[in-house]
Amino acid sequence: MSAAAVIDSLEFARAQQQSHGSLPVVGLPRLEDLLFDQDGSLEYEIRGTRDARNRPQLALRISGELHLQCQRCLERLQYEVEVENTLLLLPRGSEPDDNLDDPEAPDIIEASSELNVAGLIEDEVLLSLPLAPRHPEGACESRAGNRIEGAAPPKAFAELAALKRPRNTR
Ligand SMILES: [Zn+2]
Repeated sequence: MSAAAVIDSLEFARAQQQSHGSLPVVGLPRLEDLLFDQDGSLEYEIRGTRDARNRPQLALRISGELHLQCQRCLERLQYEVEVENTLLLLPRGSEPDDNLDDPEAPDIIEASSELNVAGLIEDEVLLSLPLAPRHPEGACESRAGNRIEGAAPPKAFAELAALKRPRNTR
């Protein structure tokens, strides 16, 4: 492992420091909860920079491959992580002065003298994941036998649902 575990975020940005490393999925419990298995790792790069107004920020780049669970066939789904984001550091106790409705406004995090890099990377990846990951249209059948596209629930459940339904629906 080669992770700078904790950084002073403002100092990191002011000094324009850089760090990069690799985080195995097994060390990221919140992310691990959403995955099909614990294979894989995330490569990350974090750079301290300043924006046009000279405010400190962190530029992140994260990539890797994770295994999600397809929400249609419930099988393994390979997913490429590609995250690039810049986070404006807000000194503790100060208010963001930007118009928060501005869609171009950067993401803001509170500056911390003990920023957990792995936690930050994990947050960014969690935010980037699809809510309902699925194989491309038509790609599920080959994995899940001949279950039909658009998937009716498995038969046992369909029968159960039928039992619960009132007989007369008029
Ligand atoms: Zn699928």
